[in-house]
Amino acid sequence: MNMGTVKISNETQKRLEQPFQMLIGDQWCDATSGATIPVINPATEQQVACIPAGDEADVDRAIKIAKEAHDQKVWSGLMPSVRERIMWKISDLIEQKSVELAELETIDNGKPITASQAIDVPMAAKYFRYWSGWCGKISGSAPTVDLPGNYVAMTMKQPVGVVGLIVPWNFPLANAAAKLGPALASGCTIVLKPAEQSSLTTICLGEILLEAGVPAGVVNIVTGYGDVVGARIANSTDVSKVSFTGSTAVGKKLIQASQGNLKRLTLELGGKSPTIVLPDADLDRVIPAVAHGIFRNAGQVCAASSRLLVHRSLLDQVVEGVVAQAQKLVLGNGLDPKTTLGPLVSAIQRDNVMRHINTAREEGCEVVTGGRVPERQGYFVEPTVVTNVISSSSLFQNEVFGPVLAVTVFDEIQEAVTLANDSEYGLSANIWTRDVSNAFLVAKAIEAGTVTINSGMIVGPGLPFGGFKQSGWGREGGEQGIDAFLETKTVVAAL
Ligand code: NAD
Repeated sequence: MNMGTVKISNETQKRLEQPFQMLIGDQWCDATSGATIPVINPATEQQVACIPAGDEADVDRAIKIAKEAHDQKVWSGLMPSVRERIMWKISDLIEQKSVELAELETIDNGKPITASQAIDVPMAAKYFRYWSGWCGKISGSAPTVDLPGNYVAMTMKQPVGVVGLIVPWNFPLANAAAKLGPALASGCTIVLKPAEQSSLTTICLGEILLEAGVPAGVVNIVTGYGDVVGARIANSTDVSKVSFTGSTAVGKKLIQASQGNLKRLTLELGGKSPTIVLPDADLDRVIPAVAHGIFRNAGQVCAASSRLLVHRSLLDQVVEGVVAQAQKLVLGNGLDPKTTLGPLVSAIQRDNVMRHINTAREEGCEVVTGGRVPERQGYFVEPTVVTNVISSSSLFQNEVFGPVLAVTVFDEIQEAVTLANDSEYGLSANIWTRDVSNAFLVAKAIEAGTVTINSGMIVGPGLPFGGFKQSGWGREGGEQGIDAFLETKTVVAAL
């Protein structure tokens, strides 16, 4: 198989020779229609496999089986400690199969193997470990009843039912794990739809779930296109909740599609996250963090630090430093361990990114490094830094989802806060200063779901993550994350 000039392990080679199928109940199957989607390695532009292109009939079958599993309490009826052990074993198996999972993630998505090994696969294992611990810790409360007489009241938490999990292509395995963890810990049954651009590791995860002992029917995986498979999950009245990560545009479609049964929705959407650099910031830490925040995963990160708001006194120094970091990146096939910047996931995404860069040029912004498609195989865009960006520039307002940093200058702290909040998004923000008061004053004033101080973005299973404004609804992570998969029932007894 053509992987460019780099080698893959025997396990991965063997797995690529096996079919990648959907999981419905205990069956691995093709789409009923027989239709498939080619899997393209974005570094080589070569087809490496194919996945089933499921349709409504496949989704309906998966939902029916998930509903039966829910009604028969196949999963929620197990003792919490039994579910906990199964989820812990999922993490063990992910770690055991880490070589294969990391290589498949890189082949499918393009990201550097060093990132797949150090971030995506360990994060997936960490999510299941964290959420396994919640199985036996879900509890209600005993509220006071303010009536004459004698009452006892309690709240109990119950799984919301069949849930649809719809995942994007930027962190396929880790995102699937981040949603499966709380859904399983809460006792729900599941129809999971990976992104059509990157389904391979999610299918392998399905194999791991069954091997770990998740009963058949509890997790069903339907691959296919979003406007077919995703849309059917969203409008089915047998699905009680959808947890979605992806674009704001599709998030809005889900709101419409879910009206039929007033489906609960968690929406993790886009972002245009600012990094604010105040005059007293430690530039030795700022510069690598800004570069990492926009160039990691080729900028295909919802919380990418895509807007740099820098105090005028530091502008030249910071831009020079970030440009130097950009120029040090090694573009290449992600399977090569020397690669630090992989391709974008698809030709469509590369062309989207280039459109944003060209519009910025037309609007008078200055591309100080990058801004081109290099002459080589693969869907690459050079790491790009754009200056002279003002708040009305389209690059200031629109999410690019690529390795493109928009730089804007400010003079006063209040101006930085106003610029940071001048966005329809509100996912995350980073503040750099040595002054603790300024750090917290800015953190309080910023409209964003996560704010970091003197650090790039930090995510983890225990940290609530989600957006203000059009970056979404609800939070994943921690108690709020599991509550989103639970209904609260109040039970009152007159004594
Ligand atoms: P997308 O919203 O098109 O797709 C995300 C998931 O939703 C995929 O599984 C897709 O198949 C599915 N989907 C698409 N249309 C659907 C529909 N009508 N109903 C139900 N499901 C549907 O996002 P994308 O194409 O993967 O990426 C495009 C943009 O999304 C990016 O440029 C970025 O703005 C945003 N994005 C955000 C995140 C995040 O973590 N917040 C992640 C990935 C992408």
